[in-house]
Amino acid sequence: MIPISFEHGFTLYIGLWFIMLSFLWGKEIWREYSTKWNSMQELLYLCDTCNHSFTSEQYKNITRCPKCNSICIFRKKDKF
Ligand SMILES: [Zn+2]
Repeated sequence: MIPISFEHGFTLYIGLWFIMLSFLWGKEIWREYSTKWNSMQELLYLCDTCNHSFTSEQYKNITRCPKCNSICIFRKKDKF
């Protein structure tokens, strides 16, 4: 067995915890970066005819409702 003093053992213990926390922090940053969510709130449409809410990937102000096929106009809501 390797003789090790209390100070060296404690330093090794803290160092291993620091390395492990750094690894987990980097992994979390990588996971957050790879699965980044985009807010599609600006592209949320509400059909006036059937009250069906849907999102559209098209950056247009006017689109068609997928449920009733009527024309829907995107209205920006004022943020207070
Ligand atoms: Zn509709």
